[in-house]
Amino acid sequence: MTTPIRVCVIPGDDAAPEAMQASQRVLARLDLPIEWDHVLPGRELSELDATERETVVHGQIDAANTVLFGATNGTTPGARYMRWGKLTFANVRPIQWRPGFRSPLKDPEEIDYVIVRENLEDMYVGIMGEAKDLINAGLTDARSRLPAGAEDGRFAAKIITRPGTEQVARFACELALERSAKLTVSAKTNMLPATDRWFCEIVREIAQEYPGLQYEQFIVDDMAHRLVIRPHDIDVLLLPNLYGDVLSDLGAGTIGGLGLAPSGCYGNDFAYFESAHGTAPDIAGMGIINPTATLLSAAMMLRYLNLNAAADRLNKAIEDVYLSGSVLTPDQGGNAGTEKFADAVIGEL
Ligand code: ATP
Repeated sequence: MTTPIRVCVIPGDDAAPEAMQASQRVLARLDLPIEWDHVLPGRELSELDATERETVVHGQIDAANTVLFGATNGTTPGARYMRWGKLTFANVRPIQWRPGFRSPLKDPEEIDYVIVRENLEDMYVGIMGEAKDLINAGLTDARSRLPAGAEDGRFAAKIITRPGTEQVARFACELALERSAKLTVSAKTNMLPATDRWFCEIVREIAQEYPGLQYEQFIVDDMAHRLVIRPHDIDVLLLPNLYGDVLSDLGAGTIGGLGLAPSGCYGNDFAYFESAHGTAPDIAGMGIINPTATLLSAAMMLRYLNLNAAADRLNKAIEDVYLSGSVLTPDQGGNAGTEKFADAVIGEL
């Protein structure tokens, strides 16, 4: 007998559990060879103290093959553990317009690229503090452009490493070879040579190991402009962590909004899947959060689990709902609630 696949479902906080609950109903219709292990929604977890909460959730994560994760506002633990504990270094965020998605662009047809965001380094290393400590430690020099009053300022450190960059660069190169063999890389190379130019230089070196791979590089402000003006030119876009976070929301905006943008975080022996959006606190409890991003993340998860036929069925059912356009959530110009949208996907299945 084969061991069943175990998936841990973490609903998360604010409006995220509403999207997750609707998505679970859809997934239940796919007859998957999966044993689901449900973590409590954040509002119920908050009855436990912080340590108990972590022990429970981390234990459920450890017992699973993968995780479908709703967004967290900090109440639900697990995100930090799955990222830095399980070293999921590549955050993959597909930006794909599908017919019926309410894009603000005139020609969104065929926008179809993938952002690979380095997921562990950069400004997310969590080193922050008082600027006077840097000054007193002699870490500023004549080239620093310290403003007047810097002693009373604060700093946040950005750290880029060679192994971290090489690892995510290889991941992005391999993904690019599976697609149209073109890799685009971007960072603030002109202003930040120590970190950003170095990041791009390392990626370029790695890209040269892959014959036939086309490499291009843009400064990140130009990149933001290109993602709006010429999104069709991009296929795989590799970015350091912070720019990846910001530009993937921008990319989601170009195809119709955050409710449509899935993501997956991949390490060498673990991956988890979550929508690119946050917890949407402003619409919590209203039953109108769009579950598409969660469902598309679930489809990415099914591919990771080699359940490709189920992933195809799910993608097709979502596409059919958007094609018909009669049952859409308010962010897409419709007046259906989250559950009604899920019913429409189930209908297409
Ligand atoms: P985070 O910092 O956790 O990424 P955020 O500040 O980017 O979160 P989001 O939670 O992503 O904020 O929400 C940004 C806006 O987009 C909010 O107005 C929210 O209601 C809306 N939004 C996000 N996700 C969805 C969704 N799935 N359906 C409808 N609206 C959404």
